[in-house]
Amino acid sequence: CGVFGVWGHPDAAQLCYYGLHALQHRGQESAGICTNNQGEFHYSRGMGLVKEVFNESNLHDLTGHSAIGHVRYSTAGESKLANAQPLIFKYREGDLAIATNGNIVNALEIKSRLEKSGSIFQTSSDTEVLAHLISRSKHDDIVEAVKDALSQLVGAFAFLILTNDKLIAASDPNGIRPFTIAQLGSAYLFASETCAFDVVGATYLRDVLPGELLVLDRKNVMCKDSFAKPSRHAICAMEYVYFARPDSDINGINIHSARKRMGKKLAKESFISADIVTGVPDSSISAAIGFAEQTGIPYEIGLIKNRYIGRTFIQPSQELREQGVKMKLSAVRKVVEGKRVVLIDDSIVRGTTSLRIVNLLREAGATEVHVRISSPPFINPCFYGIDTPERKDLIAATLTLEEMCRKINADSLYFLSKTGMLESINFMPQGVNRGCCTACFDNSYPTKK
Ligand code: 5GP
Ligand code: SF4
Ligand code: MG
Repeated sequence: CGVFGVWGHPDAAQLCYYGLHALQHRGQESAGICTNNQGEFHYSRGMGLVKEVFNESNLHDLTGHSAIGHVRYSTAGESKLANAQPLIFKYREGDLAIATNGNIVNALEIKSRLEKSGSIFQTSSDTEVLAHLISRSKHDDIVEAVKDALSQLVGAFAFLILTNDKLIAASDPNGIRPFTIAQLGSAYLFASETCAFDVVGATYLRDVLPGELLVLDRKNVMCKDSFAKPSRHAICAMEYVYFARPDSDINGINIHSARKRMGKKLAKESFISADIVTGVPDSSISAAIGFAEQTGIPYEIGLIKNRYIGRTFIQPSQELREQGVKMKLSAVRKVVEGKRVVLIDDSIVRGTTSLRIVNLLREAGATEVHVRISSPPFINPCFYGIDTPERKDLIAATLTLEEMCRKINADSLYFLSKTGMLESINFMPQGVNRGCCTACFDNSYPTKK
């Protein structure tokens, strides 16, 4: 998911709308914005893309100088309108709006405890659990109640909480999900990724720290607090590998540059003689450029992605597929024909994509296809908000390298080493796993499971 927040700007909803557009790659299921106009909440939420949910008219109604927004990719809870965020609650005399990116590992445990003592839940979203914990806190002060509630959560989260007179931002004690802060004039902005600041011309300040809680109130001073002792910093390595946009920086590290370094490392670890290097659009282009630069093998556009395939697209039937109707990716025949191709992809999850692409290149006349993956084998599920299947469906968890190579019909296959990936990201050289979460690769989960 992606979150965006604004405090202290007359066009808060508009800024939020543009920011969410830039974060659209983080979730396409639903979008929503809630504003606060001098203590009065206005909100709009819907299923679909930001451009489908918002129009001049509903944006116009979202008045106020502060706003929080969300784009959703469901990893917990079903994909339905009731789970679209921000979630809005009545809290004592006022209101509360909450938007989250991440996943609460102990949400079900807390939920069943609260249900036994009388709580009724309206959604299957983790975020509602936080609202219940806040409302049940013994503290009357909202900031203290939020801290009390957050301290009971285990997992990965970047929370934005809008109250009638405050905006609160908090990151989990391991800083697993990216969360950044910027300024625009005297306004403060929060976003999952810095690419959302660039579109509105805001100036990046810094990332939210693990366990940090930031409060903005009418005085417009950013008040720094914390709700937990910071644990080992464990930013999600997959954000650098695949999820985030290449123009974003996370913890000050540019995503495109990190991916390019991964491609270079991959080339050093697994050189192969070939005629061209190509990447799977869009997420593997940066790594493919790095691989080409390191080896001197020319980088080529061997694959083209059709960008206009939405979720509502009518998928071809099995029969049409067999006739060769391929919707998402096409090989550039004149580029790959008669060539030995190095195919760079960022990851193999189930293995279905790789097999399809290798076959696409072969059908277009590639003589050899050598697959190089710019991350280590995915062998454990993620509990922190990245959508991955159970272990039994992770191809690398069940097959050996040779078996995988045969299964995806490649001439050779190699995965970047964990060290290679972490050195390429190059965050916190002294930290455990260089300050990164690598649990899906090495089973070293930064929290209780
Ligand atoms: P596969 O067909 O192996 O399951 O999918 C691999 C492709 O999905 C890769 O090209 C990659 O870009 C994308 N991908 C990478 N990581 C993830 C992830 O965590 N979840 C999902 N759903 N897709 C991913
Ligand atoms: Fe990211 Fe993997 Fe950790 Fe999940 S388990 S947060 S995908 S590094
Ligand atoms: Mg891909």
